[in-house]
Amino acid sequence: MSYIVALDQGTTSSRAIVFDREARVVASSQEEFAQQYPEPGWVEHNPEEIWRCQRDVLAEAIAGIDRKEIRALGITNQRETTVVWDRKTGEPIANAIVWQDRRTADICDRLTTDGHRQTFASKTGLVIDAYFSGTKIKWLLDHVSGARDAAHRGDLAFGTIDCWLIWKLTCGARHATDVSNASRTLMWNIHEQAWDDELLELLGVPRSMLPEVVDSIGEAGRIAPGLPAEGVPICGIAGDQQAALAGQLCWEPGLAKNTYGTGCFMLMNTGPDARPSSNKLLTTAAWRRNDRMTYALEGSVFIGGALIQWLRDGLGIIEHASDSGKLAETVPDSAGVVVVPAFVGLGAPHWDPHARGTILGLTRGTTSAHLCRAALEAIACSVTDLARAMEADAAHPFRELRVDGGAAASNTLMQIQADLLQIPVVRPLNVETTALGAAFLAGIGAGIWGSLDELSTCWYEDTRFEPIMSASDAATIIGRWANAVERAKGWAEQA
Ligand code: ADP
Repeated sequence: MSYIVALDQGTTSSRAIVFDREARVVASSQEEFAQQYPEPGWVEHNPEEIWRCQRDVLAEAIAGIDRKEIRALGITNQRETTVVWDRKTGEPIANAIVWQDRRTADICDRLTTDGHRQTFASKTGLVIDAYFSGTKIKWLLDHVSGARDAAHRGDLAFGTIDCWLIWKLTCGARHATDVSNASRTLMWNIHEQAWDDELLELLGVPRSMLPEVVDSIGEAGRIAPGLPAEGVPICGIAGDQQAALAGQLCWEPGLAKNTYGTGCFMLMNTGPDARPSSNKLLTTAAWRRNDRMTYALEGSVFIGGALIQWLRDGLGIIEHASDSGKLAETVPDSAGVVVVPAFVGLGAPHWDPHARGTILGLTRGTTSAHLCRAALEAIACSVTDLARAMEADAAHPFRELRVDGGAAASNTLMQIQADLLQIPVVRPLNVETTALGAAFLAGIGAGIWGSLDELSTCWYEDTRFEPIMSASDAATIIGRWANAVERAKGWAEQA
């Protein structure tokens, strides 16, 4: 037998999943870890705790498997989250600053008012935002006592979570990250595929802290003696959304997937072209193999499945997330009600931090079922906005959309999505596409799968949702949504 282990280090839990050659799950283990909110808008993780629970779930998942049959390990991770540690002791100098953390928003505002927006955009494909790692490193060097001097002496190392895990798994032998993670730091030039001195200067980050950037597919190191799965090569690395793109087999340019988690993340493979966006999307590295880059366009909206959680926890109109479909289906339409879930502003393609949530079109006849249906439509409309922006950037329409994530379990939502997009929406059997993608990358890297054709037999379609609604009805819903979005914009500034 040949097995591949995927480590899926997410924002709230660490998982290890063992796949066989047919990409079937044979064992898995998962553990949650603590979220720390030391101040409003701050989110931290303890890097040592992440490592401990990742190591433990790895040990547990492979407990019943002969070590010699484990051929490769893949890593996928929460992206952008920033760890800085001491190279000699291996100890972090502070907690990890998580991607959601907004503490560096003022550093970003300064960089923008100083006129650097275009420099960052053209080199990194990103917008200047607290989301990405660069300003988080600057914050740590500015606020942890002695850190900047230590960094200049070459004593400190920076890494995203993949890099931190590789360091720990190899007992400090490898300080490396892959292109997909490097491309989320605001410091890596996606065209030249190198750390960029001008950006490092603007962010005040010494080059000596940075990891080597390696292919996403191919051996990046071996697990050190004494650890679970010792000697196994680390053959695949990718950030969670890029791994999901791989796990959905979106290997060809033009193929796209959308993940319906807390937020929604759409990525489209653009092949060897780093396509700049004219529609406020990000250009990012998907993966690299044998030094050949594959790029992607990415759009994210902050509130996806979280809107369903709000129906449950905030309004109390459903008991479980899975009740949303049943309630929405008790009415034929939302009776003109539109929900814009801009609870924390609007992400792509609108990017308005001052927008706030709104509900329009209420009448005496409005019921919880109409609100629920409007909420599902809002998620599907947000994703439709991303798809339209992506199609405009790519200059060709989608043929289908592959979906995953917790809220993709809702047949009602998926049908609404197919109706609004007017293309088929395809849900695979294994919606754990992130871990699957890491396993695919590692399995290819280790030579277990030679060609992409072999992988196509490892991806199983579960349900295909074909559009039923007429194009004109879909256009009416989208038009009403666009109108409502305009009314939600700028609200926090005016209020
Ligand atoms: P994350 O990785 O961001 O934590 P998940 O992929 O686990 O998110 O998805 C969780 C989200 O999916 C939650 O916001 C929840 O409201 C939504 N969700 C889960 N099951 C269903 C369902 N059956 N119908 C609709 N939404 C669901």
